[in-house]
Amino acid sequence: MFGTGLLKGLGVTLKHALDTFEDDRESVPDRYKGSLELGNNRRIIQQPIDQEGLLTIQYPEEKRLLPERFRYIPMLIWDSEKEEDRCTACGICAKVCPPQCIWIVRDSDENGKPVTRCSDFYIDAAVCMSCSFCVEFCPFDAIKMNHDYELAVYDRYPHLVYDMAELTVPLEYYAALWPTQYEEEQARRKEEEEQKRKQDEEKAAKAAARAAAKSAAAADESAAKPKRSAAELQALAKERAAQRQAQAADGGGSGDDEADAKRARMEELKRRAQERARQRKEQSGE
Ligand code: SF4
Ligand code: SF4
Repeated sequence: MFGTGLLKGLGVTLKHALDTFEDDRESVPDRYKGSLELGNNRRIIQQPIDQEGLLTIQYPEEKRLLPERFRYIPMLIWDSEKEEDRCTACGICAKVCPPQCIWIVRDSDENGKPVTRCSDFYIDAAVCMSCSFCVEFCPFDAIKMNHDYELAVYDRYPHLVYDMAELTVPLEYYAALWPTQYEEEQARRKEEEEQKRKQDEEKAAKAAARAAAKSAAAADESAAKPKRSAAELQALAKERAAQRQAQAADGGGSGDDEADAKRARMEELKRRAQERARQRKEQSGE
């Protein structure tokens, strides 16, 4: 029938109006149950899925509770336990960022040698598309997605190009925003540290065993070697000196013999080489 859809729509609107009216008569309306009061009429609202009546909220006084996986602009993590930035300036995030909105300036030491930390880190928030690729690819859990979406400014430059100071947050801030993910990461890091500790211990034990075996072998060798007294060593030295004197007294005859033998051998080798060359020539028919 003509107009049925229109009547249906008006019926839905009327139902919402009546539900809202009924909800507002309660001391705490359903839509405010479980919300977090911030004072001065400001509150964070977590609306129930089956809520009836008014669904809109009075932003900016009222804000929705954001889900953990909500993401907006990345943030850099300051490790409060180690008191250092987690970022090592490896540059992977800048490489994988699809719109290329990350710039990293690597720091250097007093000799000008590059070190594993940033002196600055920029993200152009006007270009960032909140894809979270930088977070997925960071090998050091140094960059995470922030929930802060109230970034409106009058001028894009320089206000929407965030530097390292603006991007850096303490680990506790990240833990509060992403509690489940943080717990999983902490468990994984602990497991990795435990594995590394075990590997280091095994390595140290193996090295100690190798060193012990080496020193035992050296001790055995020195024990097996017959020890000579000082008097014996002196006698040996005298004997060797006498041998050398006797050789010298024999004169250069023996040296000349050796040189003659060497010369003869060289001549023989040359003769053989010439013979081979002659044979090759004959075979090739030249
Ligand atoms: S945030 Fe992560 S991926 Fe990016 S430079 Fe720092 S350590 Fe590397
Ligand atoms: S969230 Fe995506 S677009 Fe934004 S900085 Fe990270 S990789 Fe780049």
